[in-house]
Order: sequence, then structure tokens, then C-alpha cells
Amino acid sequence: MPNEPLSPIERARPVPKNLRPATLAVRAGQMRTHEQEHGEAMFITSSFVFQNAEEAAARFAGTAAGNMYSRFSNPSVRTLEARFAALEGGERALALATGMAAINTFILAHLSAGDHIVASASLFGSTVQLLTKFLPRFGITTTFVAIDDMPAWHAAITPKTKLLMVETPSNPCTEIADITALAELCKTAQTGDSRPWLMVDNSQSPGIQYPLALGADVVMNAATKFADGQGRVLGGLLVGAESLIEACYQYNRTTGASLSPFNAWVITKGLETLHLRMAQHAANAQSMAEWLEAHSKVARVFYPFLPSHPQYAMAKRQQTTGGALLSFCVKGGQAAAFRVINATRLVSITANLGDAKTTMVHPATTTHFRIGPDARARAGIGDNLIRLSVGLEDIADLKDDLARGLAAL
Ligand SMILES: *Cc1c(COP(=O)(O)O)cnc(C)c1O
Repeated sequence: MPNEPLSPIERARPVPKNLRPATLAVRAGQMRTHEQEHGEAMFITSSFVFQNAEEAAARFAGTAAGNMYSRFSNPSVRTLEARFAALEGGERALALATGMAAINTFILAHLSAGDHIVASASLFGSTVQLLTKFLPRFGITTTFVAIDDMPAWHAAITPKTKLLMVETPSNPCTEIADITALAELCKTAQTGDSRPWLMVDNSQSPGIQYPLALGADVVMNAATKFADGQGRVLGGLLVGAESLIEACYQYNRTTGASLSPFNAWVITKGLETLHLRMAQHAANAQSMAEWLEAHSKVARVFYPFLPSHPQYAMAKRQQTTGGALLSFCVKGGQAAAFRVINATRLVSITANLGDAKTTMVHPATTTHFRIGPDARARAGIGDNLIRLSVGLEDIADLKDDLARGLAAL
């Protein structure tokens, strides 16, 4: 990795140690140039120049640190990586073009033909597709288990298991995984000459829970969601120990799912409002969840910080808030769910989540359509289920809109 020479400002005023996550999300990783700019500079360049042929040769030989080409490194991308690593409490981060690129890169950098994954049945739809449709072609197989069934996680581990994968809270049903217990399982499992790693997909919960502090080996974050937070760009991050991330860096510098410096800059600036936004997302979602639970046309609400949630106590231990995502079952089937969605006027009908704008989707026919009916049943995704990613609008307007929708039943 290239080392950034410190600017005169950083030399004169070194950054204090032991800063808290909300401060790190605003300030970590900035590398000022000699222009002494206050805002983070955007380095829109595909390559970098050398002073002479010797410098070029030294950089390519790896004997001198420095930038060469933006597939390998770029200062805007590096700023995001440093900020995200600090925020998640990891040694190092690697930024990639999308969340899926991050997952794919970790697996292909670390696993080989014959290796095995144990994964929660309630993973993001494209992750399930990757594990079931593509990776078996390369000899990497996956066993799916219920997110909260610890004996099943235990039993699924074989001598070839290299990775445990979980997303908590799950989407759309907000099931909670016990990160501490899964991390412990990885640390005690004897598989071949090493032990499996635990990857937590933390896309829903940056600033809400810190999986590395609970013992996870790697955090994956689809920055496309709450890290950007305004539905502008795609991006993904891996955070973990130096040795784990270095292997991903080496793999990606050849295979090239590198994050664009423009997107890196957008996400970096998004992080500056992360904690503020996540607090308001959660306040709105909590209020919406309680309101929906009391509504006569709603059969069931899934939200981690509702006392009716089966894993309420664990969610309270692991997360600072319930987050922005909730799902609810309307009374009736798919037709009833469609009627509710179609009668709203404000909330966006879109598959994306993690936006300032509230979004709504019918998972069984969209985000989780391609995983098929069996996988949907395993993940508890019924035909009457609607998912909301609660945004930052006035909560009274959001409730008015859902009331308008539910009045159609
Ligand atoms: C969106 C998402 C992903 C994939 O991110 P992309 O940037 O769309 O590739 C992975 N996991 C979760 C939980 C997500 O919400």
C-alpha cells in the first residue's frame, strides 16, 4: 500500500488517539495535500506520473511506495478505506465497486475448490445467488442454516469449512444472529490447518453495531445503502485484520472490481452524517413499527426493537437502535399487499434501501423472487409481506401515507 506523506498541517497538528466512532466517521482518513484544503480532495485520475524512469521502476517492483494506477490505489479511495476501517474498528479496509463485488472478492481471494461455506438462510438475495448458482462451478459449496439455530451452525461445519456468513438484522424479516456466539464457534472449530472466518454483512447497521468488536473476522458493508445514505452511488467495503484484507487487495488489484474515486468521495462525505442519519432513521422506524403493530389491517410487524420481536433481548444487547428496516404482513395474501403498496402516494416503490427517502417493496416478487419459493419459505418471506426502509421524512407524513395504503384493504 502506498504511504501518503503527511502534509504540513498534519505534521503540525497530529490527530488525537482514541476518538469515538461518530468522530471518526467525520474525520478519520483525511490526507491533505500541500494545498491545505479543508474538504477532502477528489482525485479523478486513472493513473499517476513518475518523476523519472527509476521511480516508475521502483514502484512497479514494489520497493518504493506510491500510486501507479487507480485499479491498484487512488487517494480518494484510500481516504474512504481509512475512514471506514476506523469507524468499524478494523486494521484495514478495502473498497470495491459494489457490495456484491466485496463479497465475491473476499471469497475468491481466500477460498479454493473443495472449500465449504456455512451461511445463514436469510442472506441478501444476490448473495444467495452467488453461493448457489455460481460458486459451485468453481468447487465451492455452501450449506444454509437458520440464522438463530446454533446447533445447526455447529453441525454444518466440516473439515473443509473456511467461512461462516451472516447478515444481521436480516432483510426483510429482521432476524438477529448472535455474533458473539458465531465468532466463538469459529474460534473453537478445528477445520483442516486453520479455522473458519466469520463474515458479517453490516450493510443495514453501520454506526449501530460493531461486529469486529464482537469477534467477527471481517465486516462487509454495501456502502450503496446507509454509508452513502442518499441513493447516489454503488460501493462496497471489506474491513478486518491486515493479513485478511491484504489478500483481498492483491486479488482485486488484478481482477479489478475497484471503486471509482468519485464514488469513494461521495461515500466519504456520506459518512460525515452517518450517525446523525442513523439516529433519525431509527427514531422514525421505531415509531412506524409501533404504529403498524397497533393497526387493525396489519397481521404482524418485524422490527428488532419491538418487545414482540422473538430476539428483542439479543437485539438490545448487540445494537444501539433497531435500525431503519422493518417488514410487516398485511391481513390477506399477495393481492392485499399489492393493493396497499399501490394506494400509497409518497413512499417510493423501489427495491433499494438505505436512502433518505422511504422505500417500499414486496420482497417475494422482487428482491427475493429469484431465490425461489423454497428459499423464501426458509427465510420466512410470505406473499403478504411488505418491507419498508424508513427514511428521513416527517414521520407524520409517512404514517399518513401508510394509512392511505392500508385503507385500501
Ligand atoms: C445491497 C446489499 C448488498 C449488495 O450491495 P450492492 O452494492 O448492491 O452490490 C449486500 N448485502 C446487503 C444486506 C445489501 O442490502
